[in-house]
Amino acid sequence: MRRVSIFGATGSVGQNCIDLIDRNPASYDVVALTGGRNVAQLAQDARRLNADIAVTAFDECLPDLRVALEGTQIEAAAGTTALSEAGARPADWVLSAIVGSAGLAPGLAALGQGATLALANKESLVCAGALVMETARANSARILPVDSEHSAIFQALGGEDIDRVERIVITASGGAFRDWPMDKLRHATPELAATHPNWDMGQRITIDSASMFNKALEVIETREFFGIAPDRIEVLVHPESIVHALVGFHDGAMMAHLGAPDMRHAIGYALHHPARQPLPVARLDLARIGQLNFTTPDEARFPALRLARAVMARGGLTGAVFNAAKERSLDAFIAGRIGFMDMADIVERVLDRFEAESDLIDAAMTLDNVMQTDHLARMWSDEAMAKQAG
Ligand code: NAD
Ligand code: MG
Repeated sequence: MRRVSIFGATGSVGQNCIDLIDRNPASYDVVALTGGRNVAQLAQDARRLNADIAVTAFDECLPDLRVALEGTQIEAAAGTTALSEAGARPADWVLSAIVGSAGLAPGLAALGQGATLALANKESLVCAGALVMETARANSARILPVDSEHSAIFQALGGEDIDRVERIVITASGGAFRDWPMDKLRHATPELAATHPNWDMGQRITIDSASMFNKALEVIETREFFGIAPDRIEVLVHPESIVHALVGFHDGAMMAHLGAPDMRHAIGYALHHPARQPLPVARLDLARIGQLNFTTPDEARFPALRLARAVMARGGLTGAVFNAAKERSLDAFIAGRIGFMDMADIVERVLDRFEAESDLIDAAMTLDNVMQTDHLARMWSDEAMAKQAG
């Protein structure tokens, strides 16, 4: 029996993981499940999987969680400290699938107790890549990528040394607005942005796909996880979402990873690693698909990619700034306070303001410094938006 914990269990990735565990419950001893406001779902899954503890991120949800778990032995807890404590509970395998920088601290706690961390929370690597990787090394803990492109890279690498890799190509579907002209993009609504042509994901990452901020985060994630130079990472728009990534070696060979767009592949790969187990994902019929298309992304319509390059060139805590400003402007876009193209604008302004404060971005990469930078970047994003509105 493997002891597993799922952070962000009530979300899109978390529910896909639970789907896999439900197919073979006798193999897993569920330690912790965590969620946000969807307490009914959290409690229902905790009961069915007989978890040791269920944690909601929000203190005000604790009374409801307690009621929903009445009559069971399952512990209930709430808040950020409780999340990190749950991460520190001994487990063999921990899925990090909280959305946003809130996933960083619980992931570090899981690595700190030596668990294998199945990482969907790309924001951890964007905010604090060096810290995450060093925490894994110091505790002999393994990180397995769950983002589909990064799982694809990992599989295409096949254990070969990264020094033999000339280039890594990650693909982007292009999201909801792939072919939209700039003047139309300015008026794009959150409702339209939240519909993805190929993947069924949480609302936030779906909108990030439409703005290419998701791909921007993933380029940084590639750099941090695989330790490859930024100029060796390429992005191709691939509307079919069949090829998830390609790894190009020094001899000119490229290994591609293909599969149906279904997160249960990447989650299942990480869950069963190093074994491969049959997974309930659709099999490809390439003759029926017929054609695969690839084009270069347009950085004028999707400035997020250009910003990601600037973040990698500057280093330090700029990743934390970039992510926090992105999260905050995404909140504002969802709330209808700013337009679609304003998101990149706000992020760029906040990055520029931090650029003038080198002592802040060159501070040591500790969890405290990262979270303080995250907090300040959110405040400065609000100020930039207020200025823009005024
Ligand atoms: P989601 O919004 O569907 O679920 C997020 C989960 O995090 C939920 O359980 C929610 O309750 C919890 N949560 C929200 N705010 C929180 C907070 N402040 N503190 C603690 N918990 C909080 O998101 P998702 O689409 O499942 O994505 C989860 C992560 O996986 C993200 O980092 C995303 O970028 C990454 N990812 C997702 C997909 C996908 O297919 N959805 C693919 C690749 C990577
Ligand atoms: Mg991805």
